[in-house]
Amino acid sequence: MLGTMQDVPLLVSRMLRHGTTIHARSRITTWTGDAAAPRRRTFAETGSRSAQLAHALRDDLGVGRADVVGTLMWNNAEHVEAYFAIPAMGSVLHTLNLRLPPDQLTWIINHAADRVILVNGTLLPLLAPLLPHLPHVSHIVVVGPGDIAALAGTRAAVHDYEALLEGRPTDYDWPDLDERTAAALCYTSGTTGDPKGTAYSHRSIYLHSMQACMAESMSLTEADTSMPVVPMFHVNSWGIPHAVFLTGTGLLLPDRFLQPAPLAEMIAAERPTHAAAVPTIWQGLLAELAERPRDISSLARVTIGGSACPPALMRAFEERHGVRVLHAWGMTETSPLGTTSLPPAGLTPEEEWPYRVSQGRFPAGVEARLAGPDGSFLPWDGSSAGELEVTGPWVAAAYHGGADGEPQRPADRFSPDGWLRTGDVGVISPDGYLTLTDRAKDVIKSGGEWISSVALENHLMAHPAVTEAAVVAVPDERWGERPLAAVVLAGEGGAECPTYRELCDFLGERVERWQLPEHWTRVEAVPKTSVGKFDKKVLRARYAQGELD
Ligand code: ADP
Repeated sequence: MLGTMQDVPLLVSRMLRHGTTIHARSRITTWTGDAAAPRRRTFAETGSRSAQLAHALRDDLGVGRADVVGTLMWNNAEHVEAYFAIPAMGSVLHTLNLRLPPDQLTWIINHAADRVILVNGTLLPLLAPLLPHLPHVSHIVVVGPGDIAALAGTRAAVHDYEALLEGRPTDYDWPDLDERTAAALCYTSGTTGDPKGTAYSHRSIYLHSMQACMAESMSLTEADTSMPVVPMFHVNSWGIPHAVFLTGTGLLLPDRFLQPAPLAEMIAAERPTHAAAVPTIWQGLLAELAERPRDISSLARVTIGGSACPPALMRAFEERHGVRVLHAWGMTETSPLGTTSLPPAGLTPEEEWPYRVSQGRFPAGVEARLAGPDGSFLPWDGSSAGELEVTGPWVAAAYHGGADGEPQRPADRFSPDGWLRTGDVGVISPDGYLTLTDRAKDVIKSGGEWISSVALENHLMAHPAVTEAAVVAVPDERWGERPLAAVVLAGEGGAECPTYRELCDFLGERVERWQLPEHWTRVEAVPKTSVGKFDKKVLRARYAQGELD
């Protein structure tokens, strides 16, 4: 017997309608630097402008169903308009990572066959040199001021965003779509290999957005203002721009002002209650606030994920600024919410810490299992380590296959029964908390035993003189691999800087002796990927080239 309920498709246009009517007065604030007042728009205005954008794309630029529209943009209100207009009209939003090297960006744009690109004027110098290599792109829409001369000679038609919207109807008859239609295309940042595209469906975005708002995830309500520092090209800014339209949560968008000082300014001035970013951003903000204190007391919670959050960072935010950090794990292929580290109820603050520093628990939409090296599944006993596999309605079933290709299901990423192989290694406790020890590719295999690079890094970053630490495997004749620790030390060459021996002794009190790195190097900064994670590929290459001692 089938249920007797309405079979209403879960569409992005429904989320837009809800946000623009029920939460019409909620606001999107875009930071414009010190010089000018922030740009403020209500959700109702955003809805009208999304409709205007959809009219322009369809009527003037000939964008049809399933056509892919790229965005090379910062976190700003116009980007939110594109986030809704493009999927709601049945086309596909493709957010482009503006920090990728030019050849990868070109590869991604061609792989997805973007027909139109919306680009912030400030990013024209980045896009212009790529255009001769982008055969599918026939229209460029420039958003905000920029030097249009950079586009001279391009074959593509060039438009101004505001001129394109001007005078268009502020309503759009959003089509009824199959909820499984692709809505947004997002490529991994290629931390461990070639970028791979995940095509989120309307249904997956809707369900993920509901999860994002829940108290156990980001707890977004109408009383909140969320500041996603995580770029809108990095896993859809972890789903926040979509999710706020369900609850009326205000948005504070940093545009291109992502340095610690302007972030501190905008928090003090606009008083967001929630924010989200990778650990390196928070590390920078903490240092900035130590030097030049600002009032960040509005921030009740921040979500930190994208790479392991050092426990020392969580504690520092809580103890110095009263900000509660929620650690979260996820990936492009999981939309990204995979776990959040809300502790079980009824514990004392000290008892909560081991739970809070773990990657956390799986929400109801995500099921998990641990695969051992022989393919058998391991118990959730807190000590059996295996590769994490997940399944759920906002988890990828395949990668986007490119212009006309079929979806790709590489065997190293998808199990025969369709679960996503995350490439992350960890343990799960009997009460369902995930602790990741490493990425499969980063784990250090020493004489048949595994050493967790993340554990060594977290301990090192708890040392007061260490601001960053990354540990990678380097080849070793006897053991196969051994750890090399690259550390950034606070202060310059002074007497207070610890020696490697002292750091080793510090670690020796926290991990077993055979795990201690015998290779040490001091670096000015740990190299970062395009989304701000430690780039271990680069460190390994530098070691291989003899650049690190
Ligand atoms: P890329 O694979 O290019 O880095 P993603 O943003 O999709 O792009 O990265 C997802 C990966 O980031 C995860 O598979 C995991 O290795 C890592 N990651 C994300 N969040 C955490 C976390 N909280 N703790 C540890 N690792 C994390």
